[in-house]
Amino acid sequence: MRRKIGITIPEMIKTAFSTKITKSYPFKELDVSERFRGKLEIDPDKCTGCGVCAIVCPASVITMVEVGKRKFRDKEVTIRRPIFNLYNCISCGQCVDDCRFNALRLTKEFELAVFDKNSLVMKKAIEHVE
Ligand code: SF4
Ligand code: SF4
Repeated sequence: MRRKIGITIPEMIKTAFSTKITKSYPFKELDVSERFRGKLEIDPDKCTGCGVCAIVCPASVITMVEVGKRKFRDKEVTIRRPIFNLYNCISCGQCVDDCRFNALRLTKEFELAVFDKNSLVMKKAIEHVE
């Protein structure tokens, strides 16, 4: 017992004067690491509608929707763009890695709690198409 006290008291004194590890979040802004994977973001200018992201997503977050038609070499082709149901996104980064047009990135945004999950549906790519 005495031995335990002998170990505990110096440890308590050391801890009392050491730098705090815990942060006062949410009262103070929280820094995240450089490689943190937060909310997914798309650059609609770069998206070509190839659909690879929808194929590789393991959480079925991405749906390709038809947004119009276009003439290409005397043929009419369908234009598609992705919609992201981000409430199911697990921030794995697979779509980011596989988008060869660099249209996707994971941001450092992590405060994603919402009352209405539909507010996390990202339609930027379809709203952007003229
Ligand atoms: S975000 Fe990238 S992978 Fe997904 S449809 Fe657009 S260009 Fe293709
Ligand atoms: S980060 Fe992962 S889970 Fe989220 S949309 Fe991309 S592939 Fe799907």
